[in-house]
Amino acid sequence: MVSRRAILASAVGLLPAVSRAAQTPGTDGAFQAFIAALRPDAAARGVSAETFDAAFRGITTPDASVLARTRRQGEFVRPVWDYLVGTVSAGRIARGRARAVALTQTLKAIEARYGVPEPIVLAFWGIESDFGASAGGIPTIRALATLAAARHRGTLFRDELLAALTILQRGDIAANRMSGSWAGAMGQVQFLPSTYLAHAVDFDGDGRRDIWLSDADSIASIASYLKDLGWDPALSWGYEVRLPGDFDLARYSGDLAEFAERGLRRADGKPFPARGRASLFLPGGLGAPAFLITDNFEVIRGYNTSDSYALAVGHLADRLGGGPSLAAPWPTAARLDGSGLRALQTGLAAAGFYDGPTDGRAGPKLRDAVRRYQVSAGLPADGYATPALLAQIEGRSMPRR
Ligand code: CA
Repeated sequence: MVSRRAILASAVGLLPAVSRAAQTPGTDGAFQAFIAALRPDAAARGVSAETFDAAFRGITTPDASVLARTRRQGEFVRPVWDYLVGTVSAGRIARGRARAVALTQTLKAIEARYGVPEPIVLAFWGIESDFGASAGGIPTIRALATLAAARHRGTLFRDELLAALTILQRGDIAANRMSGSWAGAMGQVQFLPSTYLAHAVDFDGDGRRDIWLSDADSIASIASYLKDLGWDPALSWGYEVRLPGDFDLARYSGDLAEFAERGLRRADGKPFPARGRASLFLPGGLGAPAFLITDNFEVIRGYNTSDSYALAVGHLADRLGGGPSLAAPWPTAARLDGSGLRALQTGLAAAGFYDGPTDGRAGPKLRDAVRRYQVSAGLPADGYATPALLAQIEGRSMPRR
């Protein structure tokens, strides 16, 4: 099949219409040439010819379904409330509690060694693979080779492919069992190969770091990674809170004790711990669930940079530990999608409020920029991006919703 890029290139005279398929991304010839060119780099990393040949045995074409998936990533596209419904379901909470009972001794030993609470580790495991039940069955080497040959995200996936070959060379897993998601995230914990090499651990003591079939290795690898990312055992991830009516949203960062003095309370009525810093996070704007998030929230985002993901991990952990569902309702008003967020980033950058990437993703940097704009415009500084806010920044008039 001739790729669309080849058709476009030949249409503008850059390529002869029929030839040069071997260098055209997306064709089988280009894919095989990519694999051949990889061999010396793999050898330089200590990957033997036998390991290399075994890894690519039977892999002759890219996986078209993998490339199709690059255009979707649920936790960044869906509203946070839809994402939470899917990730923190009653069924998942029940399954997680059952797994916690069955693995009590292992979980206690892992918490003791790495300092990450059992419910947090369980929550990651639940969201990544439903506690090991659905680790993804896509062969990792072919998925990574497909993304690398297409230069999806530059050289990132070529580096990950070389890391995957290194794992095979070490003998932790056989090539035909190395599997995971379409994007090369592996096993029950969905580590990319480079993350695996740096942070996975052998907890059951059989000499192999097995995040595919070993529950103990999987759970401990999550805890090991969070410890390495800087998890603070003295802090929670955060709390759902109730705001007093006159709360000054522009002062959204400070000590927990200071927030308590200003009248802010935990939604479950319990007291804040004696120490710790936090900042206010209003993922649905004023009136929706409000949270105080600690530095550990940023640690969770080190695993996956989505705010929705981090909130899902924290809330699922609370539910697994017996905590209540969220107290406040989510909004029904319009929200900005990816293209709206990109337009907002562009508008805020032009107005001097934002200097981050124009990637259409919400996060702390965009949230702070929105707050600075809201403060300057005399609006409640909830950091929440709505179509009305975008319209105001773009200088257009828009009917009030
Ligand atoms: Ca092991």
